[in-house]
Amino acid sequence: MTQRHDRIVVVGGGSAGWMTAAALVTGLKGRATVEVVESEDIGIIGVGEATFPSIRNYNQLLGIDEAEFLRATNGSYKLGIRFCDWLEVGRDYFHTFGHFGNLFGSQTLWAHHRRLGLTEPLGTQCLPTVMAMQGRFVLPRDDSQFKYAYHFDAVQYAAFLRQLAMQRGARHTQGRIVDVQRRPDGGVSAVQLDDGRRIEGDLFIDCSGFRSLLLGGALAEPFVDFSHWLPVDGAWACPCERSAEELTPYTQATALEGGWAWRIPLQNRTGHGHVFSSRFIDPDRARDQLLARLDGQPLAEPRLLSFQTGHRQRFWVNNVIAIGLSSGFLEPLESTSIYLIQDGIGRLMTMLTEGRPLNEDAQALFNEGSVRRFARIRDFIILHYCLTRRRDSELWRHVSSMELPETLAFRLELWRRFGVLHEYDEEGFDATSWLAIHAGMEHWPERDDPVFAEIPPERALSALKGRRDALAAAVAPMPLHHRMLEQVLR
Ligand code: FAD
Repeated sequence: MTQRHDRIVVVGGGSAGWMTAAALVTGLKGRATVEVVESEDIGIIGVGEATFPSIRNYNQLLGIDEAEFLRATNGSYKLGIRFCDWLEVGRDYFHTFGHFGNLFGSQTLWAHHRRLGLTEPLGTQCLPTVMAMQGRFVLPRDDSQFKYAYHFDAVQYAAFLRQLAMQRGARHTQGRIVDVQRRPDGGVSAVQLDDGRRIEGDLFIDCSGFRSLLLGGALAEPFVDFSHWLPVDGAWACPCERSAEELTPYTQATALEGGWAWRIPLQNRTGHGHVFSSRFIDPDRARDQLLARLDGQPLAEPRLLSFQTGHRQRFWVNNVIAIGLSSGFLEPLESTSIYLIQDGIGRLMTMLTEGRPLNEDAQALFNEGSVRRFARIRDFIILHYCLTRRRDSELWRHVSSMELPETLAFRLELWRRFGVLHEYDEEGFDATSWLAIHAGMEHWPERDDPVFAEIPPERALSALKGRRDALAAAVAPMPLHHRMLEQVLR
């Protein structure tokens, strides 16, 4: 059956709801009505401060000016993530959105780097990593040089998009949904509010957060649980004061006894949080560990959030499509939730703007693609855990010995035995990102590619040292992150 979409109802007004609504009104240009229903009493989750570079494509497609967006959301620039204590306590590495150079063929550098006895991290060969290490930031020439993302206040971002979507024609209804009314074919015909109002629609986008009112609730779509591999199930979040000098152009993720802690610098505050597994640490102890780590005065009481990692078996059922937390959640280690929202919006917009029928084939494609995307990112996140040498707590003993998903086990085998960075379809992260984690976790192939024996070592060594020194020299005069931000905001 082909679903109509003349009246689109978006249930939920968090980042997912307003990102979806803003894209729909911009892309459909009045060819459908778009109505967002949200409850101010319930509110939005309000975390989600670190993003992935694709957020820039979304903003650009909507015609959002970068400076205006940074001003409205207290945003800052993000070159990547600094991972502390993941390999061993006291060791750290960066995963930034840039390449390591193409010395003798792509992705081969690692072997030279090791074989030639260079002791510094592979990151010294990567421009955005060197910038991050020095706390500096300039805009790239273009995306081929390096990519960047943002840190921002998620509540302010939702408000910014609400204003934009409403200016472009989105309708906004406040009220708590108390009932979901069904069509004879099992689809949804309307949502009913607590004051008796009914909002009818042809197509419903479920952006109701962890509640998953339509897909998980009314349509009872089963949940695919990833908690065996990703056992974290709770987080304490606490913003605190910051001083201008501490504006690092990266997110910090520090591995702890029962999970890991984030540190996200915004213009007006620093976001701190502790993502933990209640199987391995008592939540009160996790809270105390977070409070002990704060590097400024807390601006609020720590807030506890509970979740389960995984996703709904199908993302689109009948006339309901779930986007955002209502469809699933992967822990925020690589800031991929907003990216996954964009992914869902992208799939939907492609169908709608190309005029493809919303039929069973489209539905199957959407669901298969979304399931694979979640699995690829799941594997990438597990990679950060499973390569650890830590054995100092139950969590680390579990993740270093657990059985891995077949897709990840296969990739690890190819890398270990042959130095191949295998890629599947629907990847969230490219080979360079995988290389950054392998290198950071000192996980190298068992043997070098024999072709490297043909390259004179002194030539390779001088090329590597040359690139390292050239990058260091290029970065040294760049402005510090907060200076660059001040300039852009002015
Ligand atoms: P919500 O923000 O929860 O919005 C749900 C909406 O549904 C609200 O408007 C609510 O009012 C409405 N609603 C629900 N029930 C009803 C009802 N009965 N009637 C009417 N309205 C209703 N993502 C990242 O990309 N980067 C990060 O760094 C990051 N960090 C995170 C850290 C933690 C601890 C967690 C839990 C998540 C994090 N995320 C992160 C995920 C991110 O917060 C979400 O993906 C994003 O905010 C989108 O949320 P949402 O819009 O799906 O849900």
